[in-house]
Amino acid sequence: MRISGGGRCNVTHAGGPAEVLAAFPKAQARFLRPALHAFPGTRLLELLAAEGIRTEARENGRVFPVDGPGSAHRVADALERLARAAGVRIRTGCRVQGLDGTPPRLRALVLEGGARLVADVFILATGGASYPQTGTRGEMAGLLAGLGVPVAPWAPALAPIPLREPRPAWEGVALRGGVLSLRPAAGQRPLARFTGDLLFTRTGVSGPAALELSRETEAARRAGGAWLDVALTASSAEAVEAELLGLQTANPHLGVRTWLGRHLPERLADPALAGLPADQRLKDLPRAGRRALAGLVTAFPLGAPGPVDLAKGEVAAGGVRLAAVDPATLAVRGWENLRVCGELLDIDGPVGGYNLQAAFSTGFLAGSLSPGSS
Ligand SMILES: Cc1cc2nc3c(=O)[nH]c(=O)nc-3n(C[C@H](O)[C@H](O)[C@H](O)COP(=O)(O)OP(=O)(O)OC[C@H]3O[C@@H](n4cnc5c(N)ncnc54)[C@H](O)[C@@H]3O)c2cc1C
Repeated sequence: MRISGGGRCNVTHAGGPAEVLAAFPKAQARFLRPALHAFPGTRLLELLAAEGIRTEARENGRVFPVDGPGSAHRVADALERLARAAGVRIRTGCRVQGLDGTPPRLRALVLEGGARLVADVFILATGGASYPQTGTRGEMAGLLAGLGVPVAPWAPALAPIPLREPRPAWEGVALRGGVLSLRPAAGQRPLARFTGDLLFTRTGVSGPAALELSRETEAARRAGGAWLDVALTASSAEAVEAELLGLQTANPHLGVRTWLGRHLPERLADPALAGLPADQRLKDLPRAGRRALAGLVTAFPLGAPGPVDLAKGEVAAGGVRLAAVDPATLAVRGWENLRVCGELLDIDGPVGGYNLQAAFSTGFLAGSLSPGSS
């Protein structure tokens, strides 16, 4: 939480439960419905306000504390204060290495060094498997699988996408508002699309569009074929070719570089990318050149992706399968005293405060034990 939202912590997403649920894949939304209604974003914001943390929703619906850099620490500190005030004893530096039990009861957690922690009820909230330096290494999923709990393997999500042929010279260049398409191969029908900003990094691409398509990209890559390109105009390639033909009469001295600059950032507005000389003017542009330019702005090629790194994701896909958990209590089916919540569940929402809200809501419901319940 202390490194979330670039250190500012995007605590939740504005809107009622229905709007928040709409951002999740259908099966995940169905599962999350009781939790989101039991503990919606408004309840979280009330709690934070009572702890002196004022929040604001940005135009895109993302809710942040108003006091800027470092505010993630204030949110984490506030939650820790609330937990301690509720009587929670917090022990750090004691990693759980084993689970001792057989259905229907878990008997103890086995800690590093061999100590056992015995309890009546266990609520596991050990997160996903990305950013292992935060302590979230995903081993709990393996421990649960060892007890027979159905678990989906961890897979990267909301992660930067490395490219097989990265463009380090373009590091820091942003493609704004384009449509990123994932295809099995160049020119084929898209498997998935996302509209949003894209940022070139030294090794590939990042930014909202890359993060959102990272899960599907890795799945396609593993399935045998993935290719990425970006549409920088809403027009079809034919419409762009026709526009260029018109311009050849209307504005014959216009340089191709200038025309490209209308669609691409300056550093990328290079006629060589379409196989044309640097000083190419529209008046001498052959048909093949028009076609190449149209191809460039309607499907700017990023090429084949490399392996997406699980450790670099803002969330991890995979975890305890939702069918194995009762959405009303977060109890693992077949177990009387074992509950799971947060990212340990097979839930991965988009960027925007959704993942923390899902963790808060499922955590709330998992912790809402009625007297005598397990
Ligand atoms: C860089 C980054 C930025 C993010 N920004 C945002 C954001 O702004 N908004 C948003 O909604 N989401 C964001 N997310 C996602 C969000 O942080 C997670 O979805 C959320 O924290 C999951 O909560 P959790 O409590 O389930 O797990 P975590 O927050 O991962 O907490 C799990 C805890 O369990 C501990 N643990 C793990 N295994 C063991 C073990 N075996 N024994 C003992 N302890 C263990 C870990 O050390 C950790 O403290 C971000 C994620 C990352 C990585």
